[in-house]
Amino acid sequence: MGRITGPVCRLCRRDGLKLFLKGTRCDTSKCAFERRSSPPGMVQKRRGKPTEYGLHLREKQKVKHYYGVLERQFRTYFARAERGKGNTGETLMSLLERRLDNVIHRLGFATSRSAARQFVLHGHVTVNGRRVDVPSYLVRAGDVLRVKNRTKSLQLVHAALSSMRRDVPDFLSRSEGGVPEGRVDRLPTSEDVSIPVQANLIIELCSK
Ligand code: SF4
Repeated sequence: MGRITGPVCRLCRRDGLKLFLKGTRCDTSKCAFERRSSPPGMVQKRRGKPTEYGLHLREKQKVKHYYGVLERQFRTYFARAERGKGNTGETLMSLLERRLDNVIHRLGFATSRSAARQFVLHGHVTVNGRRVDVPSYLVRAGDVLRVKNRTKSLQLVHAALSSMRRDVPDFLSRSEGGVPEGRVDRLPTSEDVSIPVQANLIIELCSK
C-alpha cells in the first residue's frame, strides 16, 4: 500500500489542526502550525465560507492524513465499516485506530505514525509471539505486542520512549521493562481517537 509523501506540515495547516506527523518536532516551537496556522499556498485570502461538500471533504482528508492512509485504503475501511453491524462512523474510527502502526505509535514505541510504520515494516515487532511486518494489521482485544529482543529494536524503542512522554490511551497498557511490551485491553472506540473527528460528515460524504 502507498503512503503519504511530501511536506507533511502543510497537511496540518491545510486541515487546520496539529496532526502530529513529525514526531518530537511537533511538541517544540519549530512546529510549523504553531508558527503559522493559515492554509498553505500563495493566496492568503480564501473565498467566502467553505461549501458543505468542502466541510465533509476536509473531515475525511484530516482523518486520512492523521492515520497516513491513501484514498483507496480508506475506501476499503469504509466498505468494511458499512458492512459491520454497529454505527458505521464508530466502526470506521475503531478500524483505523486498530492499525498496528497506530497502536505502536500510541504505545510510545515510535515518535510518529510514519516512524511506527517503518518500525513495523522492518520487523521489530511481534504480535502474540509472531513477527508481523504489516503496518495495516488490525490488532484484536487481548493481543500482546512485543518489541524484538534485538539491540537495534530496543535502541529505537527506548529512544522513542525517552523523547516522548504521551499518555497511553485507555484501551492499551504498556510495560517498559527490559523488553517493552504493550497489550490491547479492549477494542478502541471513537472516544479513544486523540483528535476531534466528526465521523458523521465522513459517512455522509462516502455514502453518496
Ligand atoms: Fe503538524 Fe507536527 Fe508539522 Fe506541527 S511539526 S505542523 S504538528 S507535522
